[in-house]
Amino acid sequence: MEKREKLYEGKAKILYATDDPNLIIQYFKDDATAFNAEKKGTIINKGIMNNRTSEIIFNFLENHGVPTHFVKKLNDREMLCKKVQIIPVEVITRNIVAGSLAKRLGSEEGVPLAKPVVEHCYKSDALGDPFINIYHIDAMGWATREQMATIDELSLKINALLVNYYRDINIKLVDMKLEFGVHKGQIILADEMCPDTSRLWDATTNEKMDKDRFRRDLGKIEESYAEVVRRIESRGNK
Ligand code: 5GP
Repeated sequence: MEKREKLYEGKAKILYATDDPNLIIQYFKDDATAFNAEKKGTIINKGIMNNRTSEIIFNFLENHGVPTHFVKKLNDREMLCKKVQIIPVEVITRNIVAGSLAKRLGSEEGVPLAKPVVEHCYKSDALGDPFINIYHIDAMGWATREQMATIDELSLKINALLVNYYRDINIKLVDMKLEFGVHKGQIILADEMCPDTSRLWDATTNEKMDKDRFRRDLGKIEESYAEVVRRIESRGNK
């Protein structure tokens, strides 16, 4: 397998073509951005830690029947993935009120939700990922209602699996952002699974162990990401 040209460079990752048209290489950068790239910085070794975290979580999900784009880790910063047509919808699942939901509902952060909540946003940096619903997705042709039913069902399954997974390592999965793509006609989980895209709180202290430490200038960013890796490595992918 040979690495070929750069296909796309995003805020946290670079995608490269390979000599196999069905496979791409996902490279994890240390760059961190927040608030639609208004805030920029570097989290030292974030790329290495997010590659490792994503590898273990994708493997865990595959072991539990969730189809993902993950094929294998290639080195510290790169993983081989199935090439997908990304569906431009960010799916957010929530278990505890935080972030934009706290603002929208006028609720305090930390209030548990009686049931998981699924939200959809249009994946557009230019527009700041606006909140949308199934009617917009259907009318704009971003995904069919059938595809969205599959995506929502998979999202709730992933959420339930990961709530339990993280509970085993004394972490609360507050919320997370998922992205899906189509590969050979099948909907599969894409992107990355790490503290950049999930809110993870220590279950004993409620201390934040995710990108909110960068967004909110809370310090100990690298240490928190490393602690997530340490706990996930101890839990493994079974
Ligand atoms: P919120 O809507 O509260 O800002 O975010 C909810 C969850 O989705 C958080 O775990 C957050 O990290 C994740 N999320 C939502 N949008 C984005 C995004 O554009 N980039 C990243 N990295 N995470 C996002």
